[in-house]
Amino acid sequence: VTEASAPDGPVDDPVDGSAEAAPAGNHWRKATLIGLHSQSWHSRTLALRVPGWPGHLPGQHVDVRLTAPDGYTAQRSYSLAEPSTPNRAAITVDLLPRGEVSPYLVEVMEIGDELDVRGPIGGWFVWEPGDPGVGEGPVLLIAGGSGVVPLVTMLRARKLAGDQTPTMLVYSLRGPRDLMYGPELEEMAADPSASGAAPGAADVRLVYTRKVPDGHPRPASHLAAEDIEAPATWPKPLAARVYVCGPSGFVDHATRLLRESGYPDDRIRTERFGPTGA
Ligand SMILES: Cc1cc2nc3c(=O)[nH]c(=O)nc-3n(C[C@H](O)[C@H](O)[C@H](O)COP(=O)(O)OP(=O)(O)OC[C@H]3O[C@@H](n4cnc5c(N)ncnc54)[C@H](O)[C@@H]3O)c2cc1C
Repeated sequence: VTEASAPDGPVDDPVDGSAEAAPAGNHWRKATLIGLHSQSWHSRTLALRVPGWPGHLPGQHVDVRLTAPDGYTAQRSYSLAEPSTPNRAAITVDLLPRGEVSPYLVEVMEIGDELDVRGPIGGWFVWEPGDPGVGEGPVLLIAGGSGVVPLVTMLRARKLAGDQTPTMLVYSLRGPRDLMYGPELEEMAADPSASGAAPGAADVRLVYTRKVPDGHPRPASHLAAEDIEAPATWPKPLAARVYVCGPSGFVDHATRLLRESGYPDDRIRTERFGPTGA
């Protein structure tokens, strides 16, 4: 398993320790909030205008710094929530009720407000259509909670490129009101063959852990081996490139299931959304 790391956040994976550091020379840039989009009852996407933004790859993240009037600063990492567009970066933030930074980003910031961003950061937990390491695919994306953010960015980039790599997203969440990107995921899953036949189509499996919506075929329970079982249409499932993202405990659990299912460590890339900040 190879694990991405944030400068102040998660640590190298003990298995092979190949986490990468932030590229040197990244500097803070002023960003202005230009768009807000609610994703669930406690999360929203913030679109930022960032003059001079150097562009990024799907899966990379950014450091965000808030500065109080008295000069106090707080900084956190957030995955980039859209494929690269000139002078623009977007993040999707899930509110942590007693958190320092996320409540401000989700509940307080208004259009026109400013903050600082630094990045992009990370070169390992990325997937761009055409990545030779992925080849013909398939690609398996496994998300816990807000860990879905960088994986949706990958899916969006895949759609933009018209890429047809067979892809499946397995998204674990507590209940229906926690669902982020609901309509978009529904659209991706709309093609039942879902193996890349329609542009942007992907297999999407929602794994509710506490409460299921009416009519959902799977009862509430934690992610299990059958949830990550490859679609029958995948010719060589264990050759998949796998990306796992979410809270640390979730990443450990999903990685254990993958290993037990026979996925080799060198196909699994992980990113942990642990606490960040200076
Ligand atoms: C590479 C990377 C990318 C990330 N991308 C995203 C993203 O796209 N969207 C997103 O919403 N978050 C993301 N995070 C998490 C984010 O950086 C913050 O940790 C989160 O927003 C909480 O910050 P806070 O200031 O509100 O809480 P804090 O004040 O930092 O923490 C409050 C309390 O909650 C605990 N805590 C902090 N963070 C977490 C967490 N993630 N899970 C469980 N407990 C926690 C702390 O230990 C503390 O006890 C990412 C983290 C990393 C490392």
